[in-house]
Amino acid sequence: MQVTLLHHTPLIICANAIRTCWQSFDKSDSGGKRDKELIDRVGNKFKHSSTLEHLYYNFYIKGISRALLQELARHRMASLSVKSTRYTLKELKDEVEFTQKDIKRAKKYLVFTDVALVDEMSIKALENLRKVLVQGISNDKAKYCLPESYKTELTWSINARSLQNFLSLRSSKSALWEIRELAKEIFNALPEDHKYLFEHYMAKEG
Ligand SMILES: Cc1cc2nc3c(=O)[nH]c(=O)nc-3n(C[C@H](O)[C@H](O)[C@H](O)COP(=O)(O)OP(=O)(O)OC[C@H]3O[C@@H](n4cnc5c(N)ncnc54)[C@H](O)[C@@H]3O)c2cc1C
Repeated sequence: MQVTLLHHTPLIICANAIRTCWQSFDKSDSGGKRDKELIDRVGNKFKHSSTLEHLYYNFYIKGISRALLQELARHRMASLSVKSTRYTLKELKDEVEFTQKDIKRAKKYLVFTDVALVDEMSIKALENLRKVLVQGISNDKAKYCLPESYKTELTWSINARSLQNFLSLRSSKSALWEIRELAKEIFNALPEDHKYLFEHYMAKEG
C-alpha cells in the first residue's frame, strides 16, 4: 500500500482557534514550541478536544483491499472519495487469462496475504471476474463477484481528533493486520511537527 499526505492544516490555525477563547493572539510564536504546547495542553490534557478539529489532513491511499475499505468506511468522522468499480472495472477486460503462476501480474489487482492457499483462491476469483467481464456483462452486475482482496484507492480526509481515535483503534493488536499496517503508514506520512499529537495513540510494536 502507498499513503501520500496531500495537504494539512498548519499548527498555527489550531493554536489561533484556541487563543480565540482567551484572545491571547499576542502570545503566539507562529506554530512554534509555545503554540505546540498550548495545543497539547488544551486539546489533549484539558480534553477540550474539539479544538483539534481545526487540524485537517488529506491523504491519498493506494493499493488497499476492499476488505480494508469497508472497515475504513466505518470511521464516520472522516470523508472518503473512492475509486468506483462501476467506472473502472473495464481495466480487467484487456487482460489475458490469470493462472496460478501469474502472481506478479495479479498483484496489480489483488492484495495478497501470507497464506498461499488464500492467494491462490483470490487469483481464481480474479479470473472468474475477468471471464464475466469479457462476456460483456455490465460492471454494475459483474462487481458482485469481486473478491474482497481486490485493490482500491481513495482520497481520505480526517481531522486530528478523529485521527487520534482512528490510530488508537486501528494500530491495536486486535485490529485487522492490513488496517494496522495502514494506521502505521498514515502515522508515518504525517508532518514531523504534528506527530507529537498522535504518538501516544499508537499501540506499542511487538
Ligand atoms: C478491533 C475492532 C473490531 C471491530 N469489530 C467489529 C465488528 O465485528 N462488527 C462491526 O460492525 N464493527 C466492528 N468494528 C468497528 C467499530 O464498531 C467502529 O464502527 C469503528 O471502529 C469506528 O469507530 P468509531 O465509531 O469510534 O469512529 P467514528 O465513526 O469515526 O466516530 C468517531 C467518534 O465520534 C463519536 N460518534 C460518532 N458517531 C456517533 C454516534 N452516532 N453517537 C455517539 N457518538 C458518536 C464517538 O465518540 C466515536 O468514537 C470493530 C473495530 C475494531 C477496532
